Amino acid sequence: MDRARIEVVRSVIWQMTSTIVVCGPSALVVDPGVFPAEAEAIRRRIPAGVRVEALVFTHHHWDHVVGHFAFPGVPVYASSTLVRAVAEQGALAREALEEARRRDGEWYVERPGGYRWPEDLRGLEDGFHFNVGDLDVEVLGLPGHAPDAIGLRAEETLIVGDYLSPLEIPFVDDLEAYRRTLRRLLALSAAGVERVIPGHGPPLTAEEARRIGREDLGYLDALARCRVPGDAEAALRIPLPRASTVPGMAGHHRENCRRAGWVIPADGSGG
Ligand SMILES: [Zn+2]
Repeated sequence: MDRARIEVVRSVIWQMTSTIVVCGPSALVVDPGVFPAEAEAIRRRIPAGVRVEALVFTHHHWDHVVGHFAFPGVPVYASSTLVRAVAEQGALAREALEEARRRDGEWYVERPGGYRWPEDLRGLEDGFHFNVGDLDVEVLGLPGHAPDAIGLRAEETLIVGDYLSPLEIPFVDDLEAYRRTLRRLLALSAAGVERVIPGHGPPLTAEEARRIGREDLGYLDALARCRVPGDAEAALRIPLPRASTVPGMAGHHRENCRRAGWVIPADGSGG
């Protein structure tokens, strides 16, 4: 039986990770690059004689999905939630493409493939399994950062999408779901996992991932505690678990407070 070879490539923006999983003559690419040249470079890394059988989107955010044009005709797996949104032209599907267009416009990026979802988009649910060559891949439903977020487990590796990043704080869509997902990732990475690949930043050992998971859960638990008395000022004062000097991170914290239910003006004055 072939062992999987797993390679991680990072984008020049936000260190968005693309993961190439090769097992025998088969390959899988997760979140296939942000800029067209990056997606092309990922395609060229596939060894001769190996066929990319599928792409996976960890979630709908534009940076994770726009690279699919480098792999024409390859089926794309994503959560059933995203597949439904694409079929119905729902908000998740529309917003991601609008954001891609806006960012490309701002940065003068030429994207010859344009702005469309893949034609062959197939839905995954928590607990599904599929194969890459001999390799069994398990699907993990991981809502909280986005309603359609999924992760993968392949042998001793967890690919978790936008959780457990060493570079940023949690970006919350649903606070309760995010806390549940972190508790699940902490439990999963405590047994039989050696490597965790976050959506942004370098791959982590299981121990590093658990430390980040505990810090993030502490931060989100503090947010949830402030919610009980509805104390928006206290929520805004919660220290960030990391990256506090990164431009914009304080704004992400304010957005998290808003997502947790407070009415907070965009200028961050609280109240
Ligand atoms: Zn994201």
